[in-house]
Amino acid sequence: MKHATYGVNTICTHAGEVEDTQFKGAVSPIYMATSYEFMDVNTKRYPRYFNTPNQEGLSKKIAALEQAEAALVFSSGMAALSAMFFAILKSGDHVVVQNTLYGGASHFIREEFPKYGIQFTFTDGYEPADFEKAIQSNTKLIHIETPSNPLLTITNIQAIANLGKAHNILTSIDNTFASPINQNPLNFGIDLVMHSATKYLGGHSDISAGALAGSQAQIDAIWHVAKNFGGNLSDMTVWLLERSIKTLGLRVKAQTKNAKKIAKYLEKHADIKKVYYPGLKSHPQHALAKSQMRGFGAMMSFELRAGLDALQFQKELKLIKASMSLAGVESTILSPYLTSHALLSQEERDLLGINNQLMRFSVGIESKKDLLADIEQALKTIQ
Ligand SMILES: *Cc1c(COP(=O)(O)O)cnc(C)c1O
Repeated sequence: MKHATYGVNTICTHAGEVEDTQFKGAVSPIYMATSYEFMDVNTKRYPRYFNTPNQEGLSKKIAALEQAEAALVFSSGMAALSAMFFAILKSGDHVVVQNTLYGGASHFIREEFPKYGIQFTFTDGYEPADFEKAIQSNTKLIHIETPSNPLLTITNIQAIANLGKAHNILTSIDNTFASPINQNPLNFGIDLVMHSATKYLGGHSDISAGALAGSQAQIDAIWHVAKNFGGNLSDMTVWLLERSIKTLGLRVKAQTKNAKKIAKYLEKHADIKKVYYPGLKSHPQHALAKSQMRGFGAMMSFELRAGLDALQFQKELKLIKASMSLAGVESTILSPYLTSHALLSQEERDLLGINNQLMRFSVGIESKKDLLADIEQALKTIQ
């Protein structure tokens, strides 16, 4: 399928389909084989080589969604990220990483890089100048995440791509929060895009997977390292993920629409002190978000006013689940200070602006009126 001319929902539905030549079924057959013919064939297939028919098909779909030449599918977001880091960085190299990074990625860097002699600097902030001043003569990679977790700060993707090019440094982005539906960073000149496919790409809170997308040359280079680490995804799950992505465009658009309306509602609410959502005009980087995102996504955070108990609030919610993780079709909410940022001290959290009143809200596809009614009844109960 030539995807360049197709719309995003056509890509979601059809790109990378594995043709059922035998029975002409409407969906990709699943090839579970771990052993393939080796004589007189062009491709030596093996699951850990990331080249079974289903892996290749799904990689094409994800590449098409990110408007990339190539992609690889992994067993988790962290498997994708670690393969990318270790493919680019070696002992003596330095990497600049955004301070407000996903917790797992931040732990990975702090705990693993020192063992391999890889140096790193977490930026002071998310302005381009914060990244520029962290660059050293041995810097090989700049890694960003926008919108960030949990305060939805926006990093200027174009400025970071330009900075990388000016200094001959590769740039990468964790595009999980926006999803390829709302943001395509390669179009701004970023070299590599990473996804935790456990989130929006999967979308039903039942798949662990990850992905990388970029130029054929970059993906080939990462493949050589990835096959040694062995973080490939089982073909059964590859097939499930392919099925999930068929509705990615519909899901994310519905979630984004819900989120925008709910953010506007909460912003005016007397019991809500502050709402963090890039789609609000009050967001300090609303204009920047608008310049690089197609939609503002379905992740937001908000603070209850002083005197209301945020944990009690979450316990009183009946429809919205207080649970870890995000991006499923069901709405979920959590307290970052008890979950993603629990390992930080109170002072460190204060510095980041993560207080005990703050909740991160992953908006699902439920009817907006039911989500708002649930929030209202919980607020009323805890007064
Ligand atoms: C969940 C998540 C990851 C890690 O992905 P896993 O699939 O859990 O390994 C990385 N980045 C972001 C932004 C995430 O939300």
